[in-house]
Formats: sequence, C-alpha cells, structure tokens
Amino acid sequence: MHSTASDGTDNPAELPALAKSAGLDAIALTDHDTTAGLPDAAAAAARIGLTFIPGIELSADPAVLANDNSDSAPRRGTLHILGYFVEHDAPGLVEIGVRLRQARAQRNPEIVDNLQKLGVRITYDQVLEVAGAVDDESVIVGRPHIAQVLVDKGYVRSIHEAFARYIGEGAAAYARKDRLSAKQAIDAIRQAGGLAVLAHPVQLRGLSHDELEMLVRRMRDIGLVGIETRHSDHSPADVNRLTGLAKRLDLITTGGSDYHGSRKSIRIGEPAVPISVSEQLHAAHERLKR
Ligand code: AMP
Ligand code: ZN
Repeated sequence: MHSTASDGTDNPAELPALAKSAGLDAIALTDHDTTAGLPDAAAAAARIGLTFIPGIELSADPAVLANDNSDSAPRRGTLHILGYFVEHDAPGLVEIGVRLRQARAQRNPEIVDNLQKLGVRITYDQVLEVAGAVDDESVIVGRPHIAQVLVDKGYVRSIHEAFARYIGEGAAAYARKDRLSAKQAIDAIRQAGGLAVLAHPVQLRGLSHDELEMLVRRMRDIGLVGIETRHSDHSPADVNRLTGLAKRLDLITTGGSDYHGSRKSIRIGEPAVPISVSEQLHAAHERLKR
C-alpha cells in the first residue's frame, strides 16, 4: 500500500484501520522512495492487532541492470523493486532517499515548465500544495500529484488522461528522472535488512517471456528473492505465468493491491492475496536474519 508519505491519499496512521475493515489480516506499506510513513503505520497496526510488514518501493532504471547496457535490457517501462522488512532508518536507504528526492526536485519543475510551454497554466507551488509537501519536506512528490493539479484545474478529466496527454512516458511534457540501477536498489534494500522483490513485472513493458526470465534471473543473481505475482494490474494468466517463473528460478511469490487511496481506482485488498504470502515473507526474513 501507499500513503501520503508518497503518492497515496491516506495517512500512514489510518491505513491499518482501513485495511482491517476491508477484512485484511496483514498489510505492507511500500511508499515510493521513502520509509517516512513506516513508524506511524506500524504503531497503528500494532494497536489493532494487524500484521504489518514495513517496506519501500524503489524505482530503478530498466536500462541499467547491474551496470549492464546489453541490448536485451528494456529502455522503457517501469522497474520497481519492493523492499520488505527494511529498517526505516538504515543509512543506505536514507542516503538513497536524499538522492532520489534531489532527482525529483529537478525533474518535477521541469515537467511543470514543459506544461507551461504547452500553454497549461499550473505552477509548481500548486503541485507541492496537493502533495502536502509545502510544510513537510519528507513527502515524495510525484507525477500523480501533477496529474491531480491538471484535473483540479480542468485541463483533463482524469488522472489517466493527464498521463496519456501530458506526463506519461513519451507524452508531450514528460521528463525523465535519474534513477538507480537495479543493483543499487537491491543492494540498498539488502543492507537495510530487507528482502528485495520485483514489483508488478507486467509493467516492464515490451519484454518477451524469455527476456523477462533472463532479466529476473540476473536480478536473482544479485540478490532478488522474490517476484510479485498477484497485483491489481495482473490478469489470472499473468499470475499463472509469473508463478511458473518464480518456481523455475526458486523465488518466493508475493502480492498486493498497490492501493494508492482515491487517486487511483484500485481497491484495498483487491486482488485477494493468501495469508501464506505474508507467512512466507516472514519466514524468508527469519532466514535472512540467521
Ligand atoms: P513518478 O515516480 O513521479 O515518476 O510517478 C510514478 C507514479 O505514477 C506511480 O505511482 C505510477 O503508478 C504512476 N503512473 C505512471 N503512469 C501512469 C498512468 N499512465 N496512469 C496513472 N498513473 C500512472
Ligand atoms: Zn510500483
């Protein structure tokens, strides 16, 4: 799940109760590039007896896998790496957080500049306001916040349209940000005591099944322990295919809704994820600690 610490719309302290009323027994909070929401969410979960896994989701550059620029690496698409059970104050993660925040502080105003050149009259202050980042420097400001301003100001009718027309990859006002290599992301998660898991593999667009397998195999060789098989973007056929891949590569399987609150249409707890996923993650974490 995501919270207001990044681009979700629910406060980290409120998420556990929402999850419980949706019938869930366990959740993980995996905000983009930040662990700032973890202490509040963990405390709230403990109060109501919900199993809580502290996490993070790091964006990595799909073209730079382990300093490997081979032609098989995808140039586009999204490579997100989940870190489960990370220590929220691990120095390596904090350092990465600073670096990624700087990258965003450059890229986000660039997108707003591009929009202004296209005649779209929004300001970066409006984006910070929507993100709740005016008084809180720890908030991770992202494209969904820019999309929200475009909706609020009437330039588009939906977040989806904002990405399609203006700020999605390849769209008119898009600007790329400096990202980590997969190796840097996996190393940071491991150093923070966490388990690195490939998030929503279907978002790595434009890969054949064989190319995906090769990519995951390389990531496993540098410390990846699992892949997210159940996700709101995955069809039942995707789940089957990815479960087969995990088996072949001896990786654990995880899952989640990727709930972001009201900014996306994803509902808490959909798709359903068996509690065995949480149990396996806990077991893998115990093995790691030994
Ligand atoms: P950023 O890290 O600021 O580049 O923004 C990434 C966020 O934008 C992630 O939460 C994505 O899920 C979201 N995102 C990317 N593409 C789209 C899209 N076409 N529609 C809605 N959200 C998107
Ligand atoms: Zn993601």
